[in-house]
Amino acid sequence: MTTASSQRQRAPRPVDGRPVIVVLGAGFGGLEFCKRFRGDAQVVLIDRQNHHLFQPLLYQVAMAGLSAPDVAAPIRSVLSRYARVRTHMAEVTAVDLEARTVAASDVEIEWDWLVLAPGGVTTYFGRDEWSEHALGLKTLDDALRVRSHILTSYERAENETDDEERRRLMTIVVVGGGPTGVELAGAMAELAHRVFRRDFRRIDPAESRVVLVEAEDRILGAYTPALSDSAKRQLEDLGVEVRLESRVLDVREDGVRIAGPLGVETVETRNVLWGAGVAGHPLLRAVRPAIELDRDGRAIVGDDLSLPGHSRAFVIGDAARSESSGEAVPGVAPAAIQMGRHVAKIIGRECGKDADDAERPAFRYVDKGIMATIGRRRAIAMSGPIRASGLIAWLMWLFVHLMTLVGFRNRVAVFFEWMWQYATYQRGARIIPRPEVRD
Ligand SMILES: Cc1cc2nc3c(=O)[nH]c(=O)nc-3n(C[C@H](O)[C@H](O)[C@H](O)COP(=O)(O)OP(=O)(O)OC[C@H]3O[C@@H](n4cnc5c(N)ncnc54)[C@H](O)[C@@H]3O)c2cc1C
Repeated sequence: MTTASSQRQRAPRPVDGRPVIVVLGAGFGGLEFCKRFRGDAQVVLIDRQNHHLFQPLLYQVAMAGLSAPDVAAPIRSVLSRYARVRTHMAEVTAVDLEARTVAASDVEIEWDWLVLAPGGVTTYFGRDEWSEHALGLKTLDDALRVRSHILTSYERAENETDDEERRRLMTIVVVGGGPTGVELAGAMAELAHRVFRRDFRRIDPAESRVVLVEAEDRILGAYTPALSDSAKRQLEDLGVEVRLESRVLDVREDGVRIAGPLGVETVETRNVLWGAGVAGHPLLRAVRPAIELDRDGRAIVGDDLSLPGHSRAFVIGDAARSESSGEAVPGVAPAAIQMGRHVAKIIGRECGKDADDAERPAFRYVDKGIMATIGRRRAIAMSGPIRASGLIAWLMWLFVHLMTLVGFRNRVAVFFEWMWQYATYQRGARIIPRPEVRD
């Protein structure tokens, strides 16, 4: 009998004897490591996708504003200038810290240094059965699934003769009042009330309901209370019903049961979008010997971002639970980028030497600010002493996202797409790639 591991080939080591650094994940953290690493080593970057995904704009793919290639860049082309980096497309299934190997679908690779940057996954807080009806947003597939689902609902609503079912099809419940939920709810309200306005004959899309459900007493809890209030008002101006202090009790195919300050109610809907939780990647549980994880399944790392007891293995980005100046580092792109840079410096200095350097600098997260967009000319932003909302915050958001988007082609394409949308209220990506088959 042949097993998966016996079919796996062991990758040859570099003939010149250089050390091998395996980087798992070409997200913000892994990619930054590869760009910043300077040292005499071969870097092997493994990702199950052939593209780096710019997750902050994923909701625009879901809401038919941008196309998939606008927010993704082929890893090989992003790294074509970095000769020491070899890219390998494969799914990593196991990591052995003692044997110093990673096992991918088709190959086993020995490493001298390891950088784990697999990101996180959507979590349903132990209610995985909800994932069937509550659509998460983490990958391109997720975004295309959300887009197909919503556009198909409106196509069905146009021909639906039963009033109750038509209302269900035109009701969208977004769970989670963090940045993803707020962006989805705002963009969905614009889609329904503005973009679809003249395109249907039998339904009036302006009658759509968009309900945002948040368990805490305010949305966007990472911002000041005044900015959270401003974001809530901006959403309500767009027609979003914001339900605070409301917990989801159940998600079914035809509705969501919610417990709020006024009791338990069921919102009947065929469209539930999930922006409520992110947990550490399940691959971290397959690391041997087992590593310590926090409550959310993220790897607890030391000050230098290495795994305790394994000074040559690091975890960075959303997969890591780390602290900087006594505070937990947030799961955001700038933190992953800064971690990638930090570890590139450490390994760059130590690799090629016989002994590990005992004096490593601690990781310090520099918070340059946070921003969330709500819709056209609506956003909030917080950076140092600066607090902004409305048009100014929205312009800041546009600028920062255009500048940080990976790939020159993507920047130009997204800039022109946004200008077009601003002038016309049209969405170029309103295509259902494969009509969903639903019962
Ligand atoms: C919808 C959404 C909106 C967001 N908006 C913002 C925002 O506005 N601002 C902000 O700062 N942050 C935002 N974030 C968070 C930000 O995207 C993350 O903090 C950041 O992507 C983390 O980077 P990372 O390198 O840790 O992981 P990721 O960027 O998630 O990359 C992980 C990589 O690992 C690969 N991978 C995973 N498992 C395997 C495996 N087993 N084998 C091989 N490869 C694997 C994946 O394919 C992926 O390429 C958002 C996230 C989401 C989901």
